[in-house]
Amino acid sequence: MAARKEPMKIVYGPIISPCLGKAIAVDPIGRHPKACSFNCVYCRLGSHGIMLHERAVFIEDDIMLEQIGECEHGDDCCGVLFKGTGDPFLASNIFSAARKIKEASSKKVGVMTNCSLLGQPEVLKELDAFDVIIVKLDAATEGTFQMVNRPHPSISFSDVLSGIREARLSFHGSFRMRVTLVRENLHEMGEISRICREMCPDYLYLNLPELCDPSHQVSKREAQAAWEKFNDIPCISQSDM
Ligand code: SF4
Repeated sequence: MAARKEPMKIVYGPIISPCLGKAIAVDPIGRHPKACSFNCVYCRLGSHGIMLHERAVFIEDDIMLEQIGECEHGDDCCGVLFKGTGDPFLASNIFSAARKIKEASSKKVGVMTNCSLLGQPEVLKELDAFDVIIVKLDAATEGTFQMVNRPHPSISFSDVLSGIREARLSFHGSFRMRVTLVRENLHEMGEISRICREMCPDYLYLNLPELCDPSHQVSKREAQAAWEKFNDIPCISQSDM
């Protein structure tokens, strides 16, 4: 008799999330190697995987909810954070899953996104399924965007930026931003901070990647000088997390 195939583990934790406190993490993509619309130079999942920009169901809602229910630390957690082996909005059922979690519990639900799909009407109109969204911004120009985030060929920086602007206007929850500093975008931190200021986020996370190739990393002194450009925005840097 063939052995029963165990469903892939897509729920883990607890994690300590600066936006939700003690939380369960849910990966609605569940792919190894990753399936993402970007291939960031600092990606902790490495550079292999499928590049895509079409939304689809990767993991059924029921499986996500079942694994959240089985998570042994679930009762101690006050939040559920969607972050994945690819941009969580690639999962077309992420909104229904978020709503079901909120119907079944008092947990706050958040999502971390690379913003590649934020401008799509079917994504924008559903954003309020979340309490918190964290949007990634690692560039201020098309050239740096291509160098750092290495997006799917159909995605341009101007599309990403207008998606962030539209999300800022239409989303009613806590709107947060995340900037990751690498050698390739160090020169653009002044411009990136200007865009962040324009978006007026409720909070900004400044991140230094730990697991990427050292050639992309900056020194402590360079990071401190870069973070000073964000001084007038409510920020938390990685060292504070
Ligand atoms: S968006 Fe996230 S998952 Fe996708 S390549 Fe970048 S860091 Fe990796």
